Amino acid sequence: MITSVLPTYNRAPLAFVKGEGSWLIAEDGGRYLDLGSGIAVNALGHAHPALVETITAQAQKLWHVSNVYRIPEQEALADLLVEKTFADTVFFTNSGTEAAELAIKMARKYWYDKGEPRSEIIAFEGAFHGRSTGAIAAAGSEKMVKGFGPLMPGFRQLPFGDHDALRAAISDKTAAVIIEPIQGEGGIRTLPDACLKGLRDLCDETGALLIFDEVQCGMGRTGKLFAHEWAGVSPDIMMVAKGIGGGFPLGAVLASEKAASGMVAGTHGSTYGGNPLGCAVGATVMRIVSDDAFLAEVNRKAALFRQGLEGLVATHPAVFKAVRGQGLMLGLECVLPNADVVKAGYDQQILTVAASDNVLRLLPALTISDADLAEALRRLDATATRLETA
Ligand SMILES: *Cc1c(COP(=O)(O)O)cnc(C)c1O
Repeated sequence: MITSVLPTYNRAPLAFVKGEGSWLIAEDGGRYLDLGSGIAVNALGHAHPALVETITAQAQKLWHVSNVYRIPEQEALADLLVEKTFADTVFFTNSGTEAAELAIKMARKYWYDKGEPRSEIIAFEGAFHGRSTGAIAAAGSEKMVKGFGPLMPGFRQLPFGDHDALRAAISDKTAAVIIEPIQGEGGIRTLPDACLKGLRDLCDETGALLIFDEVQCGMGRTGKLFAHEWAGVSPDIMMVAKGIGGGFPLGAVLASEKAASGMVAGTHGSTYGGNPLGCAVGATVMRIVSDDAFLAEVNRKAALFRQGLEGLVATHPAVFKAVRGQGLMLGLECVLPNADVVKAGYDQQILTVAASDNVLRLLPALTISDADLAEALRRLDATATRLETA
């Protein structure tokens, strides 16, 4: 289709006009079961009553003021994040990419202020940290960097989960290590808990700062508020976005006092970052998602769903190979090309998202009902059956 929009996306010929919980309603009235959630953004589904109420009330009071003033809504959300995590301090952004930019700047400024010339940041193959010049240099894949050089220097990529390669590469010259505890775009690739612990130890030995990119795997997605909690280790800096705004553009960089020590007045800023509207919404999302009973429900539903998906793998070995992931951040390894499975899903009115490694990503709303999960399994089953008989 020809539009005035810059064609950087291969778009499906679908347009939605309304969302209700786990459902999206298309222009023609068709109801689609949404297992993509805007790529893990709509953590509470579409048009969650508490979010509609929060944004409506805030919209009537105050949308935007400059960060040259105190912003009480921003302070309240920062307090909530600090209370529930390793962090001592928070900076708000509008996206995950902007969070990546600050994480990189923060790590380098830390070493600059210490008077040690450390600038190298170790990242991992298959990573995704955003599309800015810094974030693509960190990821380093040909797909993301080709044609955009010269790249920002100072990054190197190691194989994901290769502890020996990391041990060989990390040194007292390393400024930081940046990693997604579960790679999202990379194909729902989970770093084993032992690797995350080993990574923390190597950072402690060399002084390198540890940056977790929890833009996709954070905010309750894995059944803990943040994915790294499963391994019992904390980063020095963490990037958050996607789910935290529940659909409103919002991101954050969380950090320990030590890691953030270089970021004094005048070193960073954002016009919109931390605006009252976004932070009011973010605080409502945080209050709901950080509740232990809510996270217990995510884990209960995740176990149910995963069991059903294992069943699909068993009944459709010509389509699906295995289930991967944690909580409601799941992937089906495909036998057929994943793009074909996503497309066949549209005919069954179910929305999934492709990822690398020929994986079909399943990222339902954390609030999805048992009935909708059962319906998702039926529609995935029908999708696979159609592909087998095609
Ligand atoms: C989506 C994503 C980003 C980039 O976030 P944007 O809001 O698209 O800028 C960064 N890191 C990870 C892990 C992501 O999934």
